[in-house]
Amino acid sequence: MPKFLTGNIIKIKNETPTTKRFWVKINSEEIINFQAGQFVTMELPIHEKRLKRMRSYSIANAPDKNNILEFCIVYLENGLATSYLFNVATIGTELKFKYPAGVFILPQKIEHDLIFICTGTGVAPFRSMIHFIYNNNISHKKIHLIFGTRKKENILYQKEFENLEKEHPNFKYTIVLSREEHWEGYKGYVHQVYEKEYKDISDEKRFYLCGWSMMVDEGIERLKNIGYQENQIRFELYG
Ligand SMILES: Cc1cc2nc3c(=O)[nH]c(=O)nc-3n(C[C@H](O)[C@H](O)[C@H](O)COP(=O)(O)OP(=O)(O)OC[C@H]3O[C@@H](n4cnc5c(N)ncnc54)[C@H](O)[C@@H]3O)c2cc1C
Repeated sequence: MPKFLTGNIIKIKNETPTTKRFWVKINSEEIINFQAGQFVTMELPIHEKRLKRMRSYSIANAPDKNNILEFCIVYLENGLATSYLFNVATIGTELKFKYPAGVFILPQKIEHDLIFICTGTGVAPFRSMIHFIYNNNISHKKIHLIFGTRKKENILYQKEFENLEKEHPNFKYTIVLSREEHWEGYKGYVHQVYEKEYKDISDEKRFYLCGWSMMVDEGIERLKNIGYQENQIRFELYG
């Protein structure tokens, strides 16, 4: 098995002022399998040193055997990879990446309520997991997606999750905005939501956090302060 795969960008969509969705068709006759929640590590032409060319991105779509991977990527001021992906890469650009990897995945059997906590593009692995569950009628308990960002214009996949919430009584979707004046939903940070809604400790809950270390580290600490155990908390750190 070769170490690297290649794929070409087949579609790019501006999702918010700072976030784009990229669709990449893998160049392979074989179906490249992955598990919902996994990521790929791309080697991008952004540095002369090989190790400094590597960046990981969560797969945002559910596995569906069509060899297309979706990524949801936020632009970082002066970020090497994101400058390349946003300003140089275009439809047809070939990307080189390792096989999907990572252990931030769903349990074999979903026996607990899942609380997915994320900010910004940290929603990507959860989108994959949630679609995987509903596309395949996977047996599950309650699912609560808590998504935080700054303003309305930064919300990712809103319509899609709202529709899922209407269709599936077990799915709950909460948006929290930290810098929006006119907003009827939660204002502030993701932490307030679970601290309020899950303050009564229960072994039935499993918390998954994904995003940048500031949010994730704080989340882990706050969940432990409520009284949740380490085995009830899983996380994926973006950096
Ligand atoms: C497993 C994994 C999955 C990932 N999945 C995604 C994904 O799906 N979507 C996505 O957009 N990113 C994702 N990332 C982050 C991604 O790999 C890159 O780190 C990111 O795109 C920045 O790369 P860059 O080369 O543009 O920035 P660099 O040139 O590497 O510089 C960016 C610098 O900003 C820092 N930084 C600090 N705080 C923040 C913050 N809040 N936001 C951004 N940068 C910050 C970084 O640590 C770094 O030092 C993932 C990371 C990991 C490890």
